[in-house]
Amino acid sequence: MLHNRYSGHAFEKRFLPRLSTKEVEVLEKEDAVVVLPIGAIEQHGPHLPIYTDTLIGEGLLVQALEMLPEEENIWVLPPLAYGKSTEHLGMPGTITLSASTLQAVITDIAKSVQQSGFKKLLLFNTHGGNHDLLNMISRDIRIETGLTVFRLNPDYSVVASLISEKEQKFGIHAGEVETSMILALKESWVNMDLSPTEFVQLPEDTKHLYLKGSSYFAWVMNDISNTGVAGDAASATIEKGRKINALVSQQVASALKEMIRFDISTVKSPLQLF
Ligand SMILES: [Zn+2]
Repeated sequence: MLHNRYSGHAFEKRFLPRLSTKEVEVLEKEDAVVVLPIGAIEQHGPHLPIYTDTLIGEGLLVQALEMLPEEENIWVLPPLAYGKSTEHLGMPGTITLSASTLQAVITDIAKSVQQSGFKKLLLFNTHGGNHDLLNMISRDIRIETGLTVFRLNPDYSVVASLISEKEQKFGIHAGEVETSMILALKESWVNMDLSPTEFVQLPEDTKHLYLKGSSYFAWVMNDISNTGVAGDAASATIEKGRKINALVSQQVASALKEMIRFDISTVKSPLQLF
C-alpha cells in the first residue's frame, strides 16, 4: 500500500526537499544518487486514474527504499508528474508536455542538482511514452553537466510468471499489470466494474512489426485501441498487484544499489603504455 504522502521511511528519511539548504550543503555527495521520478498524466481507460503512471513510480520507490539499508545514499525528488503523452492527446484528462518542454524541464532540474553539488542523477521513468526521449536527454545531460546520469524503467520481466503470454506481449497500457498495481497501491481510485479487456491485433502473418523494438510502426492510442486500454484489465487483482509491486520494487532496489556504487571513471580499461 502507498503510504500517506510525507510519512513513512521514504518521505521522512530520503525525500530531498524535506531538508534545509544547510542540511543539503553538508550531505556526502560523492556517491549519492538523486532520483527524479518521471511519470505521466494521461488516460488509462475507463477504470484507472489518469495519475496511474506517476502513482506507480511513487509506489515503487517508496517500497524499494524500504527494502534497502537505511544508510544507502539515495535522495528522492518530488515526481515530475507530467510526461510526454502525445499518443493519448485528445482523450479527456490527458495532460502532456511536448518533447522540447519535457527536455527543457529535466535539463534545468539536472543543472540545479549539479549546482547543489551532487554527482549522480537517476531519471526513474514509469511511462512508456517517455522512454525514447529520456535515453536522448540523459546523454545530453551527461555532456552538458558532467553528471553521471542513469535512466531506469521498471523491469516487468520479473513478473512474467504471474501473467499470461498474451498480456506479456500486448498488455502495454492500463492492462492487467498496471491495473493490479494500482489496486494494490490505491484501490479506491480504481473502478473494476468498468475494466475492459482489449488486445492489439496485428495481422496474422506478422513476424517483425511491433509496437516497439527493432521493427516498429509509429502509433497513437487511437490507432490501436477503442477503449484506451491495451491488455486484460478485467483479470487484475489486488493480490497480483501486491506481488508485482514487491517483485518490481526489489528490482528497483537492487538497481539503485548498483548505481550508488557505480563509478563511471572505472569503466574504460586502463591505458596501455608501450
Ligand atoms: Zn501507464
